[in-house]
Amino acid sequence: MTELTVTKIPIKRGQRITQVARVPIAGATVEVPVITIGGVHDGPRVAVTGGIHGAEYVAIEAARRLGMSIDPQELSGTLVVVPISNTTAFFSRSIYTSGLDTNNLNRMFPGDAQGAPSQVLAGWLFRTIIQPSQYYIDMHGGDMIEALVPFVLAPQTGNAEVDALSLAMAEASGIERIIAGDVAGSTSGAAAAAGIPSILAEVGGQGVWREEEVAAHLESTLRVLRRLSLLPGDVPAALDQRTYRTFAWMRAETRGLFHPSVRVGEQVRDGQHLGQIVDYFGNPLQSVNAVTDGEVVFLVTSLAINAGDPLLALGA
Ligand SMILES: [Zn+2]
Repeated sequence: MTELTVTKIPIKRGQRITQVARVPIAGATVEVPVITIGGVHDGPRVAVTGGIHGAEYVAIEAARRLGMSIDPQELSGTLVVVPISNTTAFFSRSIYTSGLDTNNLNRMFPGDAQGAPSQVLAGWLFRTIIQPSQYYIDMHGGDMIEALVPFVLAPQTGNAEVDALSLAMAEASGIERIIAGDVAGSTSGAAAAAGIPSILAEVGGQGVWREEEVAAHLESTLRVLRRLSLLPGDVPAALDQRTYRTFAWMRAETRGLFHPSVRVGEQVRDGQHLGQIVDYFGNPLQSVNAVTDGEVVFLVTSLAINAGDPLLALGA
């Protein structure tokens, strides 16, 4: 392992290179591990990131295994993998926020070299890892306090060609639920806006990393790489994939204790009672009701809730 102090990622054909980039941010240095694999055959450059959120362990472990297991002799093109994009959040076990400040790193893209610390890191990742690539895959999962059913976001920018390719990548992943849409400031949304077809895939959560979930997340990414012809092999059509066009988040209006009355994967009806926030003594503060028919795709499992926190999201 060598140390990397420049912002250009060297790539050598037929080789895997592991490096730790040192990114200066607000007077400190943030380490970013980077794995590059130069394929022996021609092909596109694909970027894969994990650990944009530091406690999404299934994604982090799957991304690391991806980067360290791809054989350069089998690869057509170039793969750049950052298994832990935000090591500050990872080591501080930070939930939602970047650990560099109080921002959510996945709302900071494409970043700003002159901005807040999270924007500086986002900008470095965008310029160095994402922008020089032809395709981009961002691996996520439920955060330390979130349960979810696997789903994959395909950003829809209005650029028909890019949007169709992002959807094709989502379909190739084999992940059962596709959500056509994105969140402002996200990695994949910023990439797609810059003309780079991309997906953001979510598997696992709640601070655990089960072997079968790591294997599933890894396989979903390998399927996309096969679809993009970086790796040999067919991609059999996934069964039972469904596409949601609505991604409706429900949030806390007050702090308190959250008592959900649904589970992830449950189908709910518009207006259905989904849970409530109560005070220290159990008195109701907020009733949480479905804003649409749909499926609960993620659910916050923390009893402690702050005003503004997400509670759950429905795919519809
Ligand atoms: Zn995440």
